[in-house]
Amino acid sequence: MKEIILIKNGELALKGLNRATFEDILIKNIRKRIKPLGEFEYRKEQSTVSVIPATDDIDMDEVAERIGRVFGIARYSRALQVPKSMAEICKCAPKYLEDQLRFAKTFKVEAKRSDKKFPLTSPEISAEVGGAILSEFPYLKVDVRNPEIIVTIEIREKFAFIRGNQLKGAGGLPTGTAGKSTVLISGGIDSPVAAYMMAKRGLVLNAVHFASPPYTSPQSEDKVFRLLKQVAAYSGSITLFTVGFTEIQEEIRDNCPEDMFTLVMRRFMMRIASAIAEKEDSKALITGESLGQVASQTLPAIACTDAVATMPVFRPLIGNDKDEIITVSRKIGTFDISIEPFEDCCTVFTPKHPKTKPTVQMLEEVEKNLDIDALAQRALENTKVTVVGF
Ligand code: ATP
Ligand code: MG
Repeated sequence: MKEIILIKNGELALKGLNRATFEDILIKNIRKRIKPLGEFEYRKEQSTVSVIPATDDIDMDEVAERIGRVFGIARYSRALQVPKSMAEICKCAPKYLEDQLRFAKTFKVEAKRSDKKFPLTSPEISAEVGGAILSEFPYLKVDVRNPEIIVTIEIREKFAFIRGNQLKGAGGLPTGTAGKSTVLISGGIDSPVAAYMMAKRGLVLNAVHFASPPYTSPQSEDKVFRLLKQVAAYSGSITLFTVGFTEIQEEIRDNCPEDMFTLVMRRFMMRIASAIAEKEDSKALITGESLGQVASQTLPAIACTDAVATMPVFRPLIGNDKDEIITVSRKIGTFDISIEPFEDCCTVFTPKHPKTKPTVQMLEEVEKNLDIDALAQRALENTKVTVVGF
């Protein structure tokens, strides 16, 4: 007897795009994600993708958890494959679904027969299995209209399958169906969440991190690596470009008025990230900005940073409160890492009174004191590349 995972076509999030391509990309993504756990067979039939372990020693809890983080699946089920005998089904169903049934008050059994030669009709199967469940859990009530648990028995050609309630998938669109994008990742709470949200829409991710040693420590770079690893559990592997930013920050400190430090710095980030993205065939930038959260995220400040980007900038958190962002960061496991207290380059040389109503003209004036192109070029040459995740 083995456990398998069923992903129904109807539960695939995407309806419009070419379904076959979509399904192929999704299966490829699932394959990549669970390959380290063992050998699997993939079967596409009757609008269902079945993931079947090839050996008995595979940790199916881990498989289910990983599949639960693959974008493009709204819901999925774990199912027990059993011989096509009522005795087996009635023996196995209460035991297999014990975790779900033990805490429920109501349930119903639904039977589906694709093998029409099976001796019992669907209502007969439901009644027998329902009886078997009630004798193990006598306090349960049958509720056909609004049950807490729906037990499904499927009689197929070779085997019968038992499953309980469906599990919630990661939703979104399969990674790779929307192109590639580059996230500006800091060690904070917001940018990993922004990365996750855009990956959920089908984007493959690259990441750019600006580090200013010795003002920022190796631990803060390691923190970024660990944050991206959490995101990669959903998005698949991420190529991280760590850019040496020290010279630029010192030049800004020495040559620009203090109230403009952050904005000049953020425009450098946009220019350099754009250049890296272009080289990597990435078609958009992603930031964790949220309107008005800090001085560099007022509308005039955002207009100034946007002006130097050479491609669309996605800011999925623009309308979110911090509480809402934290809820997602806890869900994806980045929150506890984000709050570790390591310096980010944004927190060195921060002005006491940053300008909140800058204009592009003001910034261009200030930037005349710097050799923008040469500085950006040197930073680009001083970049480390790491691959994070699978
Ligand atoms: P976060 O929590 O993501 O750090 P934040 O609220 O601290 O965001 P800022 O520090 O103003 O905001 O940064 C705004 C955005 O700029 C970040 O969400 C991120 O996309 C980008 N960013 C900031 N610092 C860096 C960095 N060191 N490397 C790369 N991108 C950065
Ligand atoms: Mg930050």
